[in-house]
Amino acid sequence: MKHFLPILPALILAACGAESDQIDPVDPAEQATPREIHERILVIDSHLDTPANLSKADFDIVTDNPTQMGQVQVDLPKMQRGGLDGGFWVIFTPQGPLDEASYAAAKQAALTRSDEIIAMVEAHPDEFELAYTADDAERIVADGKRIVFQSIENSYPLGTDLTVLEDFYERGVRLVGPVHFRDNQFADSATDLSATDLGGLTPLGEELVREANRLGMMVDGSHAADSTVEDIMEISTTPIVLSHSGVKALYDHPRNISDDLLRRVAENGGVIQMNALGSYIENLEPPAERTAALEELAASFEGRSPFDLSDEEREQYMARRGEIDSAYPMPLSSFEVFMEQMLYALEIVGPEHVGMGADWDGGGGVAGMEDVSFLPKVTERLMEEGYTEADLEKIWGGNLLRIMRQVEAAKAQ
Ligand SMILES: [Zn+2]
Repeated sequence: MKHFLPILPALILAACGAESDQIDPVDPAEQATPREIHERILVIDSHLDTPANLSKADFDIVTDNPTQMGQVQVDLPKMQRGGLDGGFWVIFTPQGPLDEASYAAAKQAALTRSDEIIAMVEAHPDEFELAYTADDAERIVADGKRIVFQSIENSYPLGTDLTVLEDFYERGVRLVGPVHFRDNQFADSATDLSATDLGGLTPLGEELVREANRLGMMVDGSHAADSTVEDIMEISTTPIVLSHSGVKALYDHPRNISDDLLRRVAENGGVIQMNALGSYIENLEPPAERTAALEELAASFEGRSPFDLSDEEREQYMARRGEIDSAYPMPLSSFEVFMEQMLYALEIVGPEHVGMGADWDGGGGVAGMEDVSFLPKVTERLMEEGYTEADLEKIWGGNLLRIMRQVEAAKAQ
């Protein structure tokens, strides 16, 4: 349960008449510890890949699952310890071939993932609640529950029939990203620049943005090429969200954004939600055993990309890949490197345009912030840097809810 009461003592003192001018008004922010402040503000992460765990037999959202990097970073006990009130629970679909049969299979997979998210909430009605509006989010937290917005990472499963987006809207999807690792029917990806240059959004991608505007969904520019981000800002009537991204000035990776484009995102009213995926925020050298094992794996599939494998082959590939990840994990980045990214973005565009989207359960997490239970450290660090409670409210959720309200208002018009 959140407590929105700390303003009261000051009001009561002010009402005490003559004595009040001898007593300094109580500034709750001065007295509260970073932990208390973290607890009483609304804390949202815009990219929880946790739904990928929901179909796993040994995963239980309400128990304290063992923390292992790349495995369980979000569950109810960790959310409670970390003061995480909820966020956007991702419906992720890997990119596949651009044909009708593949679209149909991908759509089914995405609907199943959404079903799983809804089933998780229905199984734990006292702990979680589906959210559809910014007001819902605040009410759910006031009721002592966790917020479950849904989001789409990679619109590939929509195929070429954009009426499907409305089905996802009805289910609670309020954030939609056109593209993932590879170019698709909607847009150029940030990590597929060698392929055909689509020039940003395709005509179908432009339609997708207009449909998101019409329905009342935020548009996500993470994973999109710069040209796509520019097109989204050009076409969308509402501000863009980068749900899990980093800054290029500190580490030149295609998933990160340049200062210039970040400033334009801010001028657009948008927000960058900071990613904590190690190999996107610094150059991490994999151990030699990992490289060798991955090469062997690739060779056993004749060097084909996992995207080009059959479902059965992909399953085998992913199982072996999981074994390699546990035996020879990638080195971790650190909390300080993550905070440098966040502080840099804050310096460039200010607390109205920065938030958190750490890619939990999707590759995010750094040494010192291995799962969501460590989130209060971010608040503590930001307060050390001089950010106020009002700033933190914006960073942790206020910015996203502001954009959401803009999207809701634009829909209503
Ligand atoms: Zn991602």
